[in-house]
Amino acid sequence: MLGFIKLLLLVLISTVITLFFSYLHLVFILDMYFQWFFNDVQDMQQYDYIIVGAGSAGSILATHLVEDKHSVLLLEAGGTAPSFLDIPLLGPLIQNTVYDWQYVTVSQEYACKGLINNQSRWPRGKILGGSSHLNYMAYVLGHQLDYEKWFPDFAESVAKNDESISISELRWNTDFADIILEAIKELNHNVSNINLQLDTGFMKAQLTMENGRRWSSDKILYKKPNPALTVITHARATKILVNLDKAEGIEFVRFGSKYTAIGKKGIISSAGVIESPKLLMLSGIGPKKHLEKFGISVINDLPVGQTLMDHILTGLDLIVVNANLGLNLSDIFNPMSALNYFFFGKGPWTSSGVEVLGIFHSPLHANKSAVPPDLQLMVLPFGASKDNGLISKKAMGISDETKIQ
Ligand SMILES: Cc1cc2nc3c(=O)[nH]c(=O)nc-3n(C[C@H](O)[C@H](O)[C@H](O)COP(=O)(O)OP(=O)(O)OC[C@H]3O[C@@H](n4cnc5c(N)ncnc54)[C@H](O)[C@@H]3O)c2cc1C
Repeated sequence: MLGFIKLLLLVLISTVITLFFSYLHLVFILDMYFQWFFNDVQDMQQYDYIIVGAGSAGSILATHLVEDKHSVLLLEAGGTAPSFLDIPLLGPLIQNTVYDWQYVTVSQEYACKGLINNQSRWPRGKILGGSSHLNYMAYVLGHQLDYEKWFPDFAESVAKNDESISISELRWNTDFADIILEAIKELNHNVSNINLQLDTGFMKAQLTMENGRRWSSDKILYKKPNPALTVITHARATKILVNLDKAEGIEFVRFGSKYTAIGKKGIISSAGVIESPKLLMLSGIGPKKHLEKFGISVINDLPVGQTLMDHILTGLDLIVVNANLGLNLSDIFNPMSALNYFFFGKGPWTSSGVEVLGIFHSPLHANKSAVPPDLQLMVLPFGASKDNGLISKKAMGISDETKIQ
């Protein structure tokens, strides 16, 4: 009997997920036709600045530039998001959809042994708001020593929060978060708001959230509309136009037609960690040998894209005996959770997954005050096994077998 109920539940969840994906596709297509029909784009328009990519960085930058009385064109390859996507709990479901660039790495020889084809998935938002639309919303400022290393001239100003970002305490968490924090205290670690002191320690996560809904950077575009800002979606920049070593314009493609726009004061590429270097390379700025292989004439032979780094991440599924502390399917599918979310912006639907966050030094460092911490811990109230492999396992591309030579 229990087996039958479990099977029924799995069928129900799979159906809901399939319906959700169909809904996302439909909304995307409708948005595309709407933009194609109603938003006529002119060729050879002039602006002070052109920004490529309306993600976390691009949207905020565009707003600041128009506030400073500049005219700005903001180009975005993706479309606009339906407001339904603001439900924090849906974050992982947006991966591998039309709103994600769906990158995968090449097959790794020495890593990713537990992933399908030894390939790591790199989700990146292809949507107005960029990756801030599909990230886990954890708001964590960097360590003071990192800021000093990266931006020695203005470490203090970058270490402050941009006021346009909406930050919130958790509006709901499982008992798991409290128990983990108790354990951390018993181990004599610092438990306090690490975003205030920019140091090591642990805390209940702060999220980029507004009234329980996901705060993504496109919100600022809607909140502060400005006639000096032109936003064009479904427009993919294909080339930076360079004249005598000066970037003067952008070539972009929208619904199969090619356009050119001129940026009198500057061209800013904020297309993300993969597409920004790609755009530079398509424009002839990059490693000579690599560009020549693709028949791109070289303007400037620079090591573009050669210093890409990603943090290593691993998940551990904790097994808690005789207690059910994490996020349960009954929490998610309970109609009260939906009501609580829509009416009060509270409850399990406001969960982005991250409940406790901490940064600390590994035992490798003798002088801990001289180096930034090298480990981060994120406590999530569910694991890849909790949803019977329906969501997290698929999102991360975890394989059924681990091949170790
Ligand atoms: C699954 C996931 C979870 C994460 N969780 C967290 C977290 O909890 N906390 C945190 O701080 N960070 C998190 N991050 C990282 C964070 O979201 C990113 O670092 C940040 O959003 C990057 O901002 P960006 O502006 O550089 O790029 P993006 O936000 O990715 O924006 C780039 C934009 O450029 C557009 N674009 C790309 N190419 C072109 C082109 N040729 N023409 C026009 N437009 C183009 C893209 O469509 C996109 O909208 C997470 C990221 C992911 C993917």
